[in-house]
Amino acid sequence: MVDQSWRDQPVGMAADTIALAAGRIAEHAREHHLRSVWVVLHGGEPLLTGTDTIARIARAFRGSSFAGIDVQLDVQTNATLLDERYLRVFAEYRVRVGVSLDGARAAHDLYRRFANGNGSHEQTMRGLRLLQAPAYRHLFAGILCTIDIDNEPLKVYDYLSGLEPPVIDFLLPHGNWSAPPPGKGTTPYADWLIPIFDRWYSGGNVEVRLFQEIVQLVLGGRSGTEAVGLTPSTVLVIETDGSLEQVDTLKSTYQGAADTGLHLADNPIDEALRHPSIAARQIGLAGLAQKCQKCTIGTVCGGGYYPHRYRAGEGFLNPSVYCADLMKLISHVRARVVADIGRRAGKSHADHS
Ligand code: SF4
Repeated sequence: MVDQSWRDQPVGMAADTIALAAGRIAEHAREHHLRSVWVVLHGGEPLLTGTDTIARIARAFRGSSFAGIDVQLDVQTNATLLDERYLRVFAEYRVRVGVSLDGARAAHDLYRRFANGNGSHEQTMRGLRLLQAPAYRHLFAGILCTIDIDNEPLKVYDYLSGLEPPVIDFLLPHGNWSAPPPGKGTTPYADWLIPIFDRWYSGGNVEVRLFQEIVQLVLGGRSGTEAVGLTPSTVLVIETDGSLEQVDTLKSTYQGAADTGLHLADNPIDEALRHPSIAARQIGLAGLAQKCQKCTIGTVCGGGYYPHRYRAGEGFLNPSVYCADLMKLISHVRARVVADIGRRAGKSHADHS
């Protein structure tokens, strides 16, 4: 990504920083009477830190300072290092495992390669098979797939759903108006996702988060993430040195974009809420560009994911760089859902008369 600040960070989190992070999160949860918090270990690649550090982190969040608070602990990994030692630690501390996988070998190895250029699909699948063993299957949190429009969409979907993950997360690549995502034509990402949606909607047996979120919003509900809808931002990143940062995908926009200037040693987590970019992501429709405020699907789309709205020299008060894709995808989903409701209403009317 554009931001290279990771180069100045410690490669792993020191024991006192882990204790500080857990202490600040517990303090925040108690002050706000939160019944649950969600802690995700991610990188880079978190399993590079070793089982001892992962176990230390897990112990910190399973300790007495979180009594009465439901802590959901997850790790997001490429699974190449996932082995029995890690899985035993995850099972002991109830750490769920999300796996990054972009499809079958050719699709996955297009970009997910080791430094020597070799693809990582074989190692990822070895880790995934261990995770799917009966002793660990309950820890499987789902698959995260970054969309690559060069891959055939239905092949990717069939392959991933065939692995029976609890959920598939399709992620749009982190492009913006100054560094547009790859792809030709006006709506390459909608054109990639719509065939998958149609197959899934007609009887898919796996959760696909993006589609479920859009359907829920079309029906008047709320989304659970910021990717679509007007759900306030609820994510902060704690860097390995204890700095508080905004969501790390902002690092796709400009150097320092995720900075808050806050550090856990000096600042409680609440102070992040006063940061202008975080505040802008708490105020719903009023925080969107004029075009999005007037958009016919504005409350469903929500202007798209915040980092995708960036344009150098202007900032984030823009529609998403995926505007045309989102318009086409959401309109398609809405049309299918509305047609379905109409059919069911008609059937129910006929049944009663
Ligand atoms: S479809 Fe485009 S204009 Fe409408 S809310 Fe989404 S990004 Fe904004």
